[in-house]
Amino acid sequence: MLAIVNASYLSAVVLLIVGLRRLSSPKTARSGNLIAAVGMGFAILVSMFSPTATGDNNYIVIFIALAVGAAIGLVFASRVAMTAMPELVSLFNGLGGACAVAIATIELLEFNKLPVESVETGKYLTTLSALFIGAVAFTGSLIAYGKLAGKVKDKWKVPASTIVNIVLLFVILGLVGYQTVNPGGGLMLVYVILGISLIYGITFVLNIGGADMPVVISLLNALTGVAAALAGIIYGNQVMLVGGILVGSSGTILTVLMCQAMNRSLMNVLIGGFGSSGGGSAVAVDQSVKQTNANDAGIMLRYSSQVVVIPGYGMAVAQAQKTCKELELLLEECGVAVKYAIHPVAGRMPGHMNVLLAEADVDYTKLLDLEDANKTLGETDVAVVVGANDVVNPSALDDPGSPIYGMPILEILKAKNIIVLKRGMSAGYSGIENPLFFHDKTQMLFGDAKSSLQSLADEVKMLA
Ligand code: NDP
Repeated sequence: MLAIVNASYLSAVVLLIVGLRRLSSPKTARSGNLIAAVGMGFAILVSMFSPTATGDNNYIVIFIALAVGAAIGLVFASRVAMTAMPELVSLFNGLGGACAVAIATIELLEFNKLPVESVETGKYLTTLSALFIGAVAFTGSLIAYGKLAGKVKDKWKVPASTIVNIVLLFVILGLVGYQTVNPGGGLMLVYVILGISLIYGITFVLNIGGADMPVVISLLNALTGVAAALAGIIYGNQVMLVGGILVGSSGTILTVLMCQAMNRSLMNVLIGGFGSSGGGSAVAVDQSVKQTNANDAGIMLRYSSQVVVIPGYGMAVAQAQKTCKELELLLEECGVAVKYAIHPVAGRMPGHMNVLLAEADVDYTKLLDLEDANKTLGETDVAVVVGANDVVNPSALDDPGSPIYGMPILEILKAKNIIVLKRGMSAGYSGIENPLFFHDKTQMLFGDAKSSLQSLADEVKMLA
């Protein structure tokens, strides 16, 4: 029987790995997601009915909980707007952390009933670690959700946050160490560890602002994976262990990539409190922008040799990806080469722009990553910014006083001409001014990105 259970767990693990592998390309991502979901469903069923499962399996309660959870997940996921997806992912990530806290708390209550000499140190330390990491992932993700949804304001800050975070981290680690060697001391210290870990999750994320949230989100994701893997060790459940390791390791790789994209060190992220928003060098208020209209901008595009589209969060808000593709096709019919420059943190989640453009059937060989885009921009007649702001902010390159100084950006000023499509002069996610809009090369086409792209497409069609 054990062999059947292990073989079933192995099949679930294979499905999870195949699913994850397929997520690496927009072409296969949808089926990858489905395969991973089937693997997860299979893993849940095997865990529930496995004869090796200990304790009384109260199937009625389990099925009610599953049905309620699945119904809530289904309603949330099917109703969420594409632009609010990152918030939802953060919220779900926080729930993963909360699960690890629940599992660890129950196990610690069980440990408390045992005579001290029969408490295994390794298992006890694993359980306390799951409690700590799960709690940080839980409250950290809730704050990240609040920030992305605009419910938690950037001005809400913890004073001297770096020192506070370091102190809290060392207090937690000290208490975990003490409790591990003195497990017979009762549950009081366990609750203190839980409380401080919950607070640390809040102080850790609260001060992070500017454009640095992507790094934190992927780090919290990795933490939830680690907490799940630790819970897998506690229960001796292989599929939970492997699933947790997959999330933990892919989240860690993503964190490192995001750190590189934001030019931040991982240590900064671990201590928290970097890149707080606000400030930045103000652009003189009397500077004026050059405005254009669809007619002039359409002519400029039609008679170019090469156009590079730079999509950003505004494209997601406007749902302008299909209109963008329509403009691409019309320009190509006129012999204009069209490419897309994708910044790794454009939008509000990793791969946000890739997902939108794939939905509009944009050929992914036309998508340039940061490095290639910066080479191509030098040979570009017109760069069209579609609702992007922070990812094209030249202050990152030349203003040491800016909160985003040092972040690699799309070097748009290399292009001969720049057309920016946005509704007004609002700042991007980092909340800072963008001198690009006041540059000589830049012309602003104000309006919702979708309707502006539509007017451009109409103009190009007339000139074809
Ligand atoms: P930004 O948030 O910098 O700017 C988006 C711009 O889009 C705004 O200035 C806004 O200006 C404009 N906009 C909004 N709606 C529309 C619309 N309907 N039509 C036209 N324009 C519109 O976006 P970027 O993509 O340049 O940068 C992403 C930012 O988000 C970075 O700071 C990044 O660090 C951060 N972030 C990224 C995450 C990720 O994983 N990718 C996660 C969390 C944060 P206006 O209102 O004037 O139109």
